[in-house]
Amino acid sequence: MENKQLGRKIVLCEEKMAPWRKGYCKDVLERIAAQVPLPLDAIKEHYFQANAGVVEKVGAAGELRVPKKEEGNRWNYEIAMKQCTDARQVTTDLGMLLRYIMIHERTAGNVVRKGEVFKNLSVFGIGIVEGHYKCGATGVAYKYRDVDAPDIDKNILRILSAISPYVRDIADTAERDRENAVDQANRVRMILRRASMSNKVYPGFFTWENGSGRNYEWLGEEMPDPRFHQLFSETAGRMTDYAYAEGRDFDSQYASITMIYDPFRLGRINDPRAIFDALGNEMFCVTFDLRRLMRDVDGLGDPLPLSRTGMGSVLYANFDQGGHVSGVGGVNGTHAIGILDPDDRVIEKTRAYLLDNFPEIKNLTNNGDSIFSIRYDPASARAVFL
Ligand SMILES: [Zn+2]
Repeated sequence: MENKQLGRKIVLCEEKMAPWRKGYCKDVLERIAAQVPLPLDAIKEHYFQANAGVVEKVGAAGELRVPKKEEGNRWNYEIAMKQCTDARQVTTDLGMLLRYIMIHERTAGNVVRKGEVFKNLSVFGIGIVEGHYKCGATGVAYKYRDVDAPDIDKNILRILSAISPYVRDIADTAERDRENAVDQANRVRMILRRASMSNKVYPGFFTWENGSGRNYEWLGEEMPDPRFHQLFSETAGRMTDYAYAEGRDFDSQYASITMIYDPFRLGRINDPRAIFDALGNEMFCVTFDLRRLMRDVDGLGDPLPLSRTGMGSVLYANFDQGGHVSGVGGVNGTHAIGILDPDDRVIEKTRAYLLDNFPEIKNLTNNGDSIFSIRYDPASARAVFL
């Protein structure tokens, strides 16, 4: 198999691969590395197998501490993160989720609007706003820095408007993306200050510009807790090395599937990449508050629309002008979406919302044929494709 964009053959380096991944279908791994779309049945089969291994590991870990409310009506999350939706930004893994009570949100450009995820931190918890190299969202913001862009989807425009004008003006991606992480983290500090919360929030940065040797940075002040400093550096480094061992390249973005989910509804193991054992440049992940669609069922009134920045992210990857992320978008893209939730009613409502409100989703998924409904059991981490 060949990566056409790079014009090089995909070679899996078995001895450097994650040991448990050697049993996966080689053809699937090579297709991902070559940035070729995965057939829909291969997506289902591969992630079913990958999840089975994860279920085993979660079972072996024994009983996990669960998030609960503590003093001041806060949740006791120990780590709260805001990341970009970008498939390459894989800096956490199953081991971290098993060890720490973590929560995250993923929005394109790691933009912070309300900072809800950080209001759920334990008094002793830490927040991280994590940017990454070659961010598509800040790239588009730069491209349209001086012009009105009436042809851009209004949901995508909402993401661009959440990137500060001075950041949008920076030409160099390495500089712009670092500055954006610092700027977004500063917003969280302001938000927490207004809420009279004193949590520590740090801008982190994931990059592959210097090879795999140094790919996690703390911008501005160093992360003062050496545990987390080491944890993120090591995990990001290991995950990158595992991806490289399978012949992957991070130069352009690829996704086998775009995953839609609400991390607050998924319990301790609340990250689809951990649930499906996805490495870097494999899974585009977008978080939503899916309860907004359930308000009528819950007796709270009319359903509310899903987050516009979240929808902007999904449209950008899979659908806008055919989709910009290869694998799920582009000429041969599958436009595959997974809706991951413990409750079948939430999955159905979300599916209907996507098809009823976005003609391009209805058309390009062939009326939902490439939208997977995936039921998740937070206790065991088992995911079932319905
Ligand atoms: Zn990004």
